[in-house]
Amino acid sequence: TRSLATAPLDASRLQVTPISHPSTPKPNDQLVFGKTFTDHMLTVEWTKENGWDAPQIKPYANLSLPPSACVFHYAFELFEGLKAYRTPDNKITMFRPDMNMARMNKSAARICLPTFQSEELVKLMGKLIEQDKHLVPQGQGYSLYIRPTLIGTTAALGVSTPDKALLFVICSPVGPYYKTGFKAVRLEATDYATRAWPGGVGDKKLGANYAPCILPQLQAAERGYQQNLWLFGPEKNITEVGTMNVFFVFQNKATGKKELVTAPLDGTILEGVTRDSVLALAREKLDPNEWEVNERYYSITEVAEKAQKGELLEAFGSGTAAVVSPIKEIGWNGQAIHVPLLPGEQSGPLTKDVAKWIADIQYGKEKHGNWSKV
Ligand code: PMP
Repeated sequence: TRSLATAPLDASRLQVTPISHPSTPKPNDQLVFGKTFTDHMLTVEWTKENGWDAPQIKPYANLSLPPSACVFHYAFELFEGLKAYRTPDNKITMFRPDMNMARMNKSAARICLPTFQSEELVKLMGKLIEQDKHLVPQGQGYSLYIRPTLIGTTAALGVSTPDKALLFVICSPVGPYYKTGFKAVRLEATDYATRAWPGGVGDKKLGANYAPCILPQLQAAERGYQQNLWLFGPEKNITEVGTMNVFFVFQNKATGKKELVTAPLDGTILEGVTRDSVLALAREKLDPNEWEVNERYYSITEVAEKAQKGELLEAFGSGTAAVVSPIKEIGWNGQAIHVPLLPGEQSGPLTKDVAKWIADIQYGKEKHGNWSKV
């Protein structure tokens, strides 16, 4: 147990070492997701003995760690992903950073890395963005991707609780995920590999959850699919797609009622901030006489049956990077389940509405409670 005397994370102790020659922004059309970074990074060291050290903003640079550091051996690593947007009145706002901080603290607690004061890291990310604000791109679809990361740095090979850790935040100016607007994807329903399971850590943003998902993605790609639709269990329940949550739209032909559905948060689903935003906005905006919005179990068999009956209307993934990503086809058991699309269209109407509702809030055209944080 940690002594009460150890220091909390404290944004007021921030020390800033600015870069000597700030870089000039790249033209928007040269921004590739997560390949170039802003001039500065934030680092905060933690020790079991003393708690959180003074936060530092300093030039983006390599880290120096002993090869014995526990992050390299036992995957003491977790991360977050959120974005900051330039609004029409030239303010820069983060989208729901409190949700990412809450999730980051849950991830940290699960792998015995130190938790921290969420509001303090939000303040520090604000300072980091401010430091490089000339590098935050402008325009619909453009934003600053922020990557908070926490690693165990204890230099010892025994598998045990880290007594040293490093929190760092780096930022990447990014463009729209799909340069030419929406591009609907083909998925392979995957039951030969499992992303997450009950009692596991699929609801935490641990680096260890991601590396094992690349091989199944390559295998799906060999068969012509962009992503895996992750199934779980003998029921073949639909859980997530690639590294996104997933939504389906059904319509009951007998009653005419439509349903927006996604899997429930049962510990096997990453608690997506975009997922939460889609659900909240759908519950606010859709007419309850026409729509049900449900978090429930549903299987690939149910989707296949509904598609046959003409009751499958739309499907899309949700996540910070692409926000909304429409789905046009799912390969399952040697058959293709088609999501109906009108000629020339890449998504159905609800998928478009959802993307617009969220973008309008992110870019400051609409206000939604405290979702946008300056
Ligand atoms: N599922 C997984 C496995 C993810 O990695 C992500 C990306 N963080 C998501 C879903 C979507 O979460 P969010 O909307 O918070 O980006």
